[in-house]
Amino acid sequence: MNQKKKIIIIGAGPGGLCAGMILSYRGFDVTIYEKDEQVGGRNKNLKLGDYTFDVGPTFVMMKFIFDEMFEEAGKKLDDYLQMDLLDISYQLRYFNKEVDVYWDKTKLKKELEQKIGMTPEMYDYFFDREKKRFDHIFPCLQKPYHKLKNNFNLDLIKTIPHLSLGHSVFSELGRYIKKEEDRLVFSFQTKYLGMAPWKCPAFFMILSYLEHAFGIYHVQGGLGKISEAMAKVTRENGGVIHLKKPVKSLLFEGKKVIGVELENGEKDYADDTIINADFSWAMTHLAKGKTKKYTPKKLKKKKYSCSMLMLYLGVKKTFDLEHHTVVFSKNYEEYINRINNSGQMYEDLSIYIRNPNKIDSTLAPKGKTALYVLVPAPNNKSGLDWDSIKDEWRDRVLDIMEDRLNMKGLRESIEVEHIITPDDWEADFNVHLGAVFNLSHTLDQMLYLRPRNEFEEFDNCYLVGGGTHPGSSLPTIYESSRISSNLISDKYGIDYETLNKNYPKK
Ligand SMILES: Cc1cc2nc3c(=O)[nH]c(=O)nc-3n(C[C@H](O)[C@H](O)[C@H](O)COP(=O)(O)OP(=O)(O)OC[C@H]3O[C@@H](n4cnc5c(N)ncnc54)[C@H](O)[C@@H]3O)c2cc1C
Repeated sequence: MNQKKKIIIIGAGPGGLCAGMILSYRGFDVTIYEKDEQVGGRNKNLKLGDYTFDVGPTFVMMKFIFDEMFEEAGKKLDDYLQMDLLDISYQLRYFNKEVDVYWDKTKLKKELEQKIGMTPEMYDYFFDREKKRFDHIFPCLQKPYHKLKNNFNLDLIKTIPHLSLGHSVFSELGRYIKKEEDRLVFSFQTKYLGMAPWKCPAFFMILSYLEHAFGIYHVQGGLGKISEAMAKVTRENGGVIHLKKPVKSLLFEGKKVIGVELENGEKDYADDTIINADFSWAMTHLAKGKTKKYTPKKLKKKKYSCSMLMLYLGVKKTFDLEHHTVVFSKNYEEYINRINNSGQMYEDLSIYIRNPNKIDSTLAPKGKTALYVLVPAPNNKSGLDWDSIKDEWRDRVLDIMEDRLNMKGLRESIEVEHIITPDDWEADFNVHLGAVFNLSHTLDQMLYLRPRNEFEEFDNCYLVGGGTHPGSSLPTIYESSRISSNLISDKYGIDYETLNKNYPKK
């Protein structure tokens, strides 16, 4: 580049940081404005006394994508982070049984046969069939869909038979597992998208497949370390990150975004601006009065994911509990339907707990535990007043942990704690409706129909993060950053190497 092109990125969440480190490596002049005093957004860490928690993500899936992103930024992930493959990906607790999902396939097949009657042959059939589906679908997710013609690529057309259109993840699983409650072993993962397995399109079977194919990793020090490492790489590559600098609005010249105005009144100008702040929140605040396609009225008609009630407990005890434990309700379907469709909480809770002690001694002092508890909850369309009900639900969660997980003495041993409610996600994290997994991943809100990486409404404006294509989880968020970085690089004729072999490079 003769003269460095300047890129402003709004938000130092996973999407913004990943784009920041790639574009700064390619020679762009990158400036990130982050409203918080630390980087990471929903993927930052939370310090309470001697305890460290991850605020959001705790599962690293598809580690190879993480490796690739660091390589795209000219670095090696292993020089920044220690990622450990889990022997037991997670433990699933039913009322009458526990299922350990082992990484070792011999142990896993034995467990599945004993606990849910899935024969080793049926598991192999599942694995081979879902591998084919994944091998077709994943390349399509790596392509950009900012132009209508992108929808007619050959890979996408070849994928159609693998989409099992008209089926949900739950009904599709009937091929492999007869008993409905046992299907949860391969379908609770739709919660990663904030969706119900019986509503989630069948092609999201790839979620459970990819866990079985690539394993689940923990990051020493917590997954917040990934954001810190990406921020470090961005700075090493010459990018600048301003903390505690909230953006107030986008600046326009006609349809063209020319920069940002900060809350403190400062203005900064750029050739291109990337929005990482939650998409619907950004439309209602940063592009207020400018967007015609995503007005509050139109956003109201969109479908959104559920939210999460979070408990972070610093406890002066250790527990015999796997690293990841999912506790199912008696009637999981009713629970998920209540929170997704009726906007209600339901006493028969299903919760997820992370107990990092077994493999990470850095998060709590010796003999103590930093417990992370996640409880699916309605998004803020519900109108629930969380300030007045959060303590009641906290108590129900602790009851489940003490009774069903045999964590006796838990309550008395809590030294520090913090709660994040759906209201807090909206107020403190700028997440529209507190819908933490963004716009739902329904067919009518995906690919070309999702807000596009090269934003369709304004010029010189790009999107990264869970609200754009391909969607909301760390690997797909990083893909959004890579796609937007490639589109910007193409626009300026930058010569670059990308490890995304499915990106149609000019
Ligand atoms: C509880 C929970 C658990 C999850 N678990 C997993 C998991 O295990 N694995 C996984 O892969 N994914 C998981 N996810 C999903 C996803 O990976 C994370 O939500 C991810 O952090 C989203 O990244 P993002 O870049 O889209 O948005 P964010 O993380 O929200 O980043 C946006 C950034 O923009 C900043 N910002 C907002 N407004 C402004 C403004 N006006 N000016 C400047 N900055 C602004 C924010 O402070 C933030 O830093 C989880 C999410 C949650 C909430």
